[in-house]
Amino acid sequence: MRINKYDVLIIGAGPAGAVAAALLRQQGRKVLIIEREQFPRFSIGESLLPQSMEYLQQANMLQAVVEAGFQFKNGASFVHNKKYTEFDFRDKYTKGWGTTYQVQRDHFDLILASEAERQGAEIRYQHEVVMIDIEKIKPIVTFKNLINQKYTYNIEAGFVLDASGFSQVLPRLLDLKTPSDFPVRGAIFTHIEDNILSSTFDRNKICITIHPEYNHIWYWLIPFSNGRCSIGVVAENALLQNYHGTTTERLQILVNQDLSLKKLLVNAKWDTPAREITAYASNVKSLWGKNYALLGNAGEFLDPIFSSGVTIAFKSASLAANILKQQFAGEKADWEKDYAVPLKLGIDTFRTFVELWYSGGFQKIIFHDNPQPDIRRMISSILAGYAWDENNPYVKKSKQRLTALEALCA
Ligand code: FAD
Repeated sequence: MRINKYDVLIIGAGPAGAVAAALLRQQGRKVLIIEREQFPRFSIGESLLPQSMEYLQQANMLQAVVEAGFQFKNGASFVHNKKYTEFDFRDKYTKGWGTTYQVQRDHFDLILASEAERQGAEIRYQHEVVMIDIEKIKPIVTFKNLINQKYTYNIEAGFVLDASGFSQVLPRLLDLKTPSDFPVRGAIFTHIEDNILSSTFDRNKICITIHPEYNHIWYWLIPFSNGRCSIGVVAENALLQNYHGTTTERLQILVNQDLSLKKLLVNAKWDTPAREITAYASNVKSLWGKNYALLGNAGEFLDPIFSSGVTIAFKSASLAANILKQQFAGEKADWEKDYAVPLKLGIDTFRTFVELWYSGGFQKIIFHDNPQPDIRRMISSILAGYAWDENNPYVKKSKQRLTALEALCA
């Protein structure tokens, strides 16, 4: 059998896969992406962080994203009963982009994948990676054509990047999965025609509201530019299962328990059936190994609260492309030092913030009556995605700093 050869094979054409492909094409690499779905396809993860713009720029994709007319985003607002606070990401400690977009991911992911193709990456849609022999000098990847089901193909690749998201193809095939430290949480969400009065609401911000009684239940409202929005709720899975009815009815019951959301969405048209996803938090033994690395969600996913997923996916793609440049040039590549350690720096910053969110400490800090402007700016930076800026004390010593700040605010 004739075996096609590529420098890099990427599993999955989501944000991590598409950006990695474009960056590798800029280095002149021969790149193939195997994607299970036909794009456009639905995906959750619609609120970007300003830090992600830097990677879109690096990948030569920014213009196409800007031209798509997505909802402009400049910050985040938080609401709990009568308490309200907001962060404007343009007012932040770290230099760099302060604005970004809220995107319908079917359209956004198609744009990124098309941009990767325009730059010379080959994408085979509706093909699924089913097996991999990673131990060979050059790995052999076996994948199946999902349209005719019959055919499997083998590809020889110089290196494999797993960007398969929650499917975690390599972690499953190579037994790399480890349980997440977080409790099993779930989310119910949909898109609606929101009909929110423009005078009462800032569409340029993601709105996070907290359940009036249980502060570990929270909601997102992510406005889009076409009068629609993404609405969702997150809670421990066991609690979500106490709500009965169709998935849409359960979401509506939960939304109506939050009076601020109920009021905002009083004229909304619930025209799309809700979806549910559970147990999304994931972890792995290692983010890389012989001939492969794990990008984005294929490696680790923490929690949706700070909208960090796409930014981490882009960051992982950018770091991996840099190391592959050295590796293909015949230089020694240290994946632990130059990939896993720097990537985890930002993931761990977000982890500290996520833990503080669910312990209630983050709410004490952000709703404090007398906030220190300098500290707000440092926190605003992390919320804008600058979780790798070691000059920011809330990155360098995030746990100690946040614990001390929480004690001060209590
Ligand atoms: P994905 O976007 O999941 O792409 C993976 C691709 O791989 C898919 O297209 C899939 O079809 C393909 N694939 C899978 N298996 C195979 C296979 N065997 N063969 C070939 N292809 C395959 N992030 C944000 O930034 N902002 C948010 O507001 C946000 N909200 C979220 C809300 C919830 C409830 C959850 C659970 C997550 C949220 N996220 C958010 C996280 C975000 O969804 C992900 O972090 C992001 O999509 C990761 O990108 P990725 O490229 O790693 O993977």
